Amino acid sequence: MYRLLPDIYQKDVFSIDYEALKNAGIKVILFDLDNTLARIDENKPSQNLKNLMDHIRALSLIPLIISNQSKNKIAPFKDGLLVSSAFLSFKPLKFKYKKIMRQYKVKPSQVAAVGDSLFTDIFGANRLGITSVLVDSMGSVVLLKKLPRFFENRIIGHYTRRGVFERGVYYE
Ligand SMILES: [Mg+2]
Repeated sequence: MYRLLPDIYQKDVFSIDYEALKNAGIKVILFDLDNTLARIDENKPSQNLKNLMDHIRALSLIPLIISNQSKNKIAPFKDGLLVSSAFLSFKPLKFKYKKIMRQYKVKPSQVAAVGDSLFTDIFGANRLGITSVLVDSMGSVVLLKKLPRFFENRIIGHYTRRGVFERGVYYE
């Protein structure tokens, strides 16, 4: 049941302590795109986001996008943020995570994955032993995602009753 519990929980990608991740041995940061780096209706990265990627690179960390979206949807973000990306990743399946780890020659303990979804981003990271970082979703939920969100809220309710997780109570 706790396989959906994030290791770290922060409000958004700007609130994450990347220096602490680096000090913990992290080398690669995998970002979800939709509602994590940008709202689902945005089609190019903001200047704030570009600055954040520069900050992450200045720490000698490698930021990457790992998304279930198509190549075309990701392209303006990949180009605008100067990051490599994995598209059609089918998170929480393991194959794209594994491919990236092979490519960058890193172990799960050297990777952190940031996303807004328990079922894809957090579960995908946790099942490989990658540090999982949950952020609050940036946008409203589209119809297609309403059902997973319903179940997600039930699991969060379960965690909250057990005292291990509460929405808006951030931790590192
Ligand atoms: Mg997302």
